[in-house]
Amino acid sequence: MTDRPIRVLIVEDNPDDLRHVLQLLDRGAAGPVTTLTAGSVAEAVDLLHGGAHADVALLDLALPDTTPGSLEALERVQAVAPLLPTVLLTGLDDEVVAEEAIRRGAQDYLPKRNLEAPLLGRALRYAIERQRAEVALRESEERYALAVAGANDGLWDWDLQRDTIYFSPRWKGMLGHGLDEVGEAPQEWFERVHPDDLLILRAEISAHRAGGTPHFKSEHRMLHKDGTYRWMQSRGIAVRDPAGQPYRMAGSMADITARKLAEKRLQHDAFHDSLTGLPNRALFLDRLGVALAHARRRGDHAYAVLFLDLDRFKNVNDSLGHHVGDELLVAVARRIEVLLRPGDTVARLGGDEFAILLDGVDDPAQASRVAQRVNRELSRPFDIQGHEVFVTMSLGITLSSSASYERPEDALRDADTAMYRAKAAGKDRHAIFDRAMHEHAVALLQVETDLRRAIERQEFVVHYQPIVELASGEIDGFEALLRWHHPAHGLLQPDSFIAIAEDTGLIVPIGWWVLREACRQLAEWQADGRGRSIAVSVNLSGKQFLQTDLVRRMRRLLREVPISPGSLRLEMTEGAIMEQGQAAVAKLLQLRELGIKLYIDDFGTGYSSLSYLHRLPMDGLKIDRSFISSGAGAEAGGSSEIVRSIVALGRTLGMGVAAEGLETAEQVTHLRGLSCELGQGFFFSGPVDRSAAGGLIAQHARW
Ligand code: C2E
Ligand code: MG
Ligand code: MG
Repeated sequence: MTDRPIRVLIVEDNPDDLRHVLQLLDRGAAGPVTTLTAGSVAEAVDLLHGGAHADVALLDLALPDTTPGSLEALERVQAVAPLLPTVLLTGLDDEVVAEEAIRRGAQDYLPKRNLEAPLLGRALRYAIERQRAEVALRESEERYALAVAGANDGLWDWDLQRDTIYFSPRWKGMLGHGLDEVGEAPQEWFERVHPDDLLILRAEISAHRAGGTPHFKSEHRMLHKDGTYRWMQSRGIAVRDPAGQPYRMAGSMADITARKLAEKRLQHDAFHDSLTGLPNRALFLDRLGVALAHARRRGDHAYAVLFLDLDRFKNVNDSLGHHVGDELLVAVARRIEVLLRPGDTVARLGGDEFAILLDGVDDPAQASRVAQRVNRELSRPFDIQGHEVFVTMSLGITLSSSASYERPEDALRDADTAMYRAKAAGKDRHAIFDRAMHEHAVALLQVETDLRRAIERQEFVVHYQPIVELASGEIDGFEALLRWHHPAHGLLQPDSFIAIAEDTGLIVPIGWWVLREACRQLAEWQADGRGRSIAVSVNLSGKQFLQTDLVRRMRRLLREVPISPGSLRLEMTEGAIMEQGQAAVAKLLQLRELGIKLYIDDFGTGYSSLSYLHRLPMDGLKIDRSFISSGAGAEAGGSSEIVRSIVALGRTLGMGVAAEGLETAEQVTHLRGLSCELGQGFFFSGPVDRSAAGGLIAQHARW
């Protein structure tokens, strides 16, 4: 027992008896105590009612406010404090009443006369102790009854000596069996356990029987009469003889199938993509990590990682809507899945990106073959909500032999790099990662760093390519095209750095530099009388068009650099305009108010609908050079028809039409024949530096 002082409520009206009890307690009869006294039942009830705390009561049955010979005192105290253990103080003739009091819940009784310290102490301490035990027992019995009723458990009781088990009707019913369909042998249980769970169940039982665990608890599958397996939780406890040997084990069984399913679903959701149901990035990296470790341990174990990205998926989403896009992703996932062996993993990493892990590939060519199969499989059109959709995919492959990867992320990154190479090489194909690619990726990073310093180091120059009025053959204007004098790599064309400038946002300051430079040059030519009617076209990237202060800065530039109105043209692709969304038209109108002419660049490669184009306030179209070159001029093929239609379309919309990429006399003649207004291309002149361009103006060049 603890040494916390116990608080004793003494209900006694006789001063001598009270003094005697107090003296005994004072002398330490019951260890450390504090006391609380009452001279009548009414007083005691008042104290308890008022919240006074006592651990035990010493109660005289003969009090001034009780009927002699009755249990009134006990009853009234119990009414206000039902859990307060009570020890009665009795006179010589109270013996019979006291016995009755014990039956009614009093813990003990003591004779007032001859009251001794040890007797008093022990009675008080035991009274408290016994009361606590009784409460605890009652609570646990109630809890058990509740648990059995509430949880609907089946019960079992195993006689270990006879090795028979009693199974309750509910236990049998949970497995679909009637009362007489299950016997009493332990085999009735173990034979129905799923073979994969049996060993562990037996181990859990043995551990508990040997005393290794305080309770037996096990989750395992059990065969139901209907042939399915249900998840059950069995719990129990062994009953032991004084030597500690278990002779009986009893417990319950609960059906936890629903919980198991929910757990499984949660786990599945955490590692799978909700749209396609494929493993997600986390699970993919996990499996890749296993393959990596395997390959590190065993030199002959090889794997391949394929990174897949749909080509132009954004077009599908933008033109046909997200529902079609989503459904397409699911359909693509299904087609890829069937190409793989059981041990392989295909995952959706996000968006239109997928990845495949080929584990245990003995031949790198095998990875290539899988990639080719993916490309071939996707070449059949998809039927999505009545739309016939065509897609292609670019794939990048890395092999465990390319590098000894430490982290799965690194392998995935290299496959991604290779995928970009496949895209750059024309899409709908695959590329295999090699060290050179890694170096290329690093080199790109270097370009970015260099690009950041190029403006201040004055490494950029603008070249000018004449745009010719086809009817007269005279120069109408120039397109300003950016060139970069790289300190290490020499003169770089835009295709080697514009994309990086776009991705990093550096295109914005660079674009403004080009605009200012081109306007300055134009002003110079116009000031010299011969170039008075010359115009300059400058390419405006989508990022620049998105700038909120575009119009304000443009206005300021035009104030600072004096060029004649209408002689600055901006070329924008449809994509750049569409990025701006609803606000595009208003912004274009504001630019036009500044006297700037607006051209759609690379016309025909975008996906805009005619009705959208119709609403755009543009001054002209530049036909993409791919239509010109494959049209092969006068031999009117398919592309030539397209060129004819675009020229006609431009006229209908009231826009001027320019053709770029004119390389041969035939092409020029053809476009002239279609009454196309303007032409540009190597046939006239490639882009030249500013002094050469000035020379062309000065000599009145004419073709
Ligand atoms: P773009 O605006 O379509 O420019 C026309 C491109 O076609 C130029 O390539 C030009 O050199 C090339 N070209 C001209 N005539 C012929 C021809 O007869 N045959 C062939 N095959 N090509 C011809 P360049 O200078 O390499 O520029 C490529 C692209 O880079 C440009 O395409 C434009 O989109 C972008 N770009 C160039 N300068 C700038 C700039 O200052 N700002 C922005 N945002 N983009 C620029
Ligand atoms: Mg252009
Ligand atoms: Mg173009």
